[in-house]
Amino acid sequence: MPYVDYVELKSRITILQAAQMLALTLKAHGAQHRGPCPICNTGGDRALVITPERGLFYCFPAKTGGDLIKLVAHVKSCSQNEAAQLVQSQFGGTVPTIPARTRGSIPNHSPTVPQNQKAGLNPLPYLEPEHPAIQALGISPATAAAFESGYAGKGVLRGRYAVPVHGKDGTLLAYVGVAVSKEQSPTLLFHNFDPGSTIFNANRLAEGGDLFVCRDPLQVLLAVENGVAPESVVAFLTDGIAAQQLEMLAALMDEKKTEPAQLF
Ligand SMILES: [Zn+2]
Repeated sequence: MPYVDYVELKSRITILQAAQMLALTLKAHGAQHRGPCPICNTGGDRALVITPERGLFYCFPAKTGGDLIKLVAHVKSCSQNEAAQLVQSQFGGTVPTIPARTRGSIPNHSPTVPQNQKAGLNPLPYLEPEHPAIQALGISPATAAAFESGYAGKGVLRGRYAVPVHGKDGTLLAYVGVAVSKEQSPTLLFHNFDPGSTIFNANRLAEGGDLFVCRDPLQVLLAVENGVAPESVVAFLTDGIAAQQLEMLAALMDEKKTEPAQLF
């Protein structure tokens, strides 16, 4: 297969141009564009989120995201190389140069996560956000650090990805241990904490914004990694969802006057 220069391709084609090529139905909402995912065919009209200024997409049902080449690969169910070929053949060399400010990728952009931490548990000082096991999950050091999370080399969550759980007022309540390998039980590990009592990342939720509700914290981090605003995505911390947790979610929506929650 002929070689395609991904960097060159991404320097002159935006993710929205790729989305247009794929005939995606998107609606602009703030800094993001949202629409149904034609390949997953589930999750409603907010399944796919594209963040043009970062050149990233995230598909909630598929729990996958990335740049425009990965977007084309996802929607066309093909390899990245095939996707790059497709983009190349579609746009050829005739695409006008796009002004720098709307270019598809902004390297080294780390998400800004508002911090509102109050006294509670003491943060674990030994977590490693840049550990390869975290990157293997699809989480960059910048995103892991923004969430004050990282690989635990010791302690009760040893060998897992430790992610802090905050109360709605920002108090550090607990750490959740996310599995980093198939050998580990995928069940989230907690220590002295009732996971049904809190909605993960609710402390960061913005007033009047969007609300994506995931099934686990890793999906929140993956969504943020792939451009979704950290102020718009939360997760339940249990496998099943009890009535009491749905009431908590409803109260949160009322309080923050968010859009109706979309559950993934
Ligand atoms: Zn999808």
